[in-house]
Amino acid sequence: MALRSRFLIGGFVGLLGLKKQQEAPSYVLIGGGTASYYAALTIRAYDPNSKVLMISADNEAPYNRPPLSKELWLHGTKNVDKNLEYIGVTGKKRDIKYESDGFYLSPTDLNKFEHGGVSLLRNTHVTQIDPVNKEVTLDTGKKVKYEKLLIATGGKPKIPYPFYSPHLRNKVMTYNNASDFQKLYRIAHESSAILIYGNSATAAELAFSVQTKFGKDKLKIIHVFPEQYPMQESLPPNVGEFVRNAISEKGVIIESRTQPTFVNQLPNGQVEVELEKDGEKHKLKKLAYASIL
Ligand SMILES: Cc1cc2nc3c(=O)[nH]c(=O)nc-3n(C[C@H](O)[C@H](O)[C@H](O)COP(=O)(O)OP(=O)(O)OC[C@H]3O[C@@H](n4cnc5c(N)ncnc54)[C@H](O)[C@@H]3O)c2cc1C
Repeated sequence: MALRSRFLIGGFVGLLGLKKQQEAPSYVLIGGGTASYYAALTIRAYDPNSKVLMISADNEAPYNRPPLSKELWLHGTKNVDKNLEYIGVTGKKRDIKYESDGFYLSPTDLNKFEHGGVSLLRNTHVTQIDPVNKEVTLDTGKKVKYEKLLIATGGKPKIPYPFYSPHLRNKVMTYNNASDFQKLYRIAHESSAILIYGNSATAAELAFSVQTKFGKDKLKIIHVFPEQYPMQESLPPNVGEFVRNAISEKGVIIESRTQPTFVNQLPNGQVEVELEKDGEKHKLKKLAYASIL
C-alpha cells in the first residue's frame, strides 16, 4: 500500500512538471582502487538498481597494481611508459585498467538511469565525513549525500630514516601507483645505478623485473634490506633463498642484514648511501636514485 501511494505521489509530482529533489547515490565509495572497484561490482550484483558513486583522488580509472612491478617491465609493449600496456599470458595485448572509460556513468547522469550504474568522480579528495547527516565533503567544498558509505582509501608508503629529508626529495621515491612506474621507468633509462630499499614482495619483484629489463651491464640495481633473506616476513627460509638466487642470477647486488645509516646528495646530483652490516660501515657511491618499497 505504502509503495503504491509513493508511485501515485511520484506520478502526480511528475504530471505537475515539478522537479524532483536530487537523489543521493545509494552507495558512495571513497577511493578508486581495487577494493572500491570490486565493491562496486559486488554491490551491483546484489542490488542491481543501485546508484554507486566512486570518489577517487586518482586521475585514472581503477586499475590493477600488480603488473606495475612485473608485467609492465617484463612484457611491456613498445610505448609501455605511455600506454601501460603489456602482452599477457595468452599472447594478447592488455592494459592495467579494469574497465574502459565507457563503463562509468558521468556523475551528473547517475540519477537519470532507472537501473542505476557505477559512476566515477576523479581527481577529487573526500576531506570530511559527516555520518550523522550522511554526507561527505569534497575538496571542492561540495557536499554529497549517501545512503551507505565505504571507505576504501588504501595505504600510503612511508619514507623511513635516513631517506626522509627535504633535500633528498628529488632523489628518493616510493613505489605505489602508475605514475611511480612511469617515473622509475624514465629514471632507469637515464641512470647507471639505483638502490632499492625494503623487503616487501614489491621490492623483490621490482629488483628482479627492472634488472631483467635493463641488464646488469646497463644498470646496477642494489637491493638493501635489514633481514636475512628476501621477503622474510612472508616466506619460509628455503623459498626466500630461492627468491634470492633468482634475483641474484639477474645481476642484482643483494645487501641483506644491512641498514642504511646515512644518505647524502653530492653537488653533481648523485647520491651516496652509507650502509652498515655486522657493525661495519661502507659507502655506495654514484647512485642516481633510491627507491623505497
Ligand atoms: C607495485 C605493486 C605490486 C603489487 N603486487 C601485488 C600482487 O602481486 N598481489 C597482490 O595480492 N597484491 C599486490 N599489490 C597490492 C595490491 O595492489 C593492493 O593491496 C591493492 O591495490 C589495495 O587496493 P585498495 O583499493 O585497498 O587501495 P589502493 O589501490 O591504494 O586505492 C586507494 C584509492 O583511494 C584513493 N584515495 C585515498 N584517499 C582518498 C581520499 N581522501 N578521497 C578520495 N580518494 C582517496 C586513492 O587515490 C586510490 O584511488 C601490489 C601493489 C603494488 C603497489
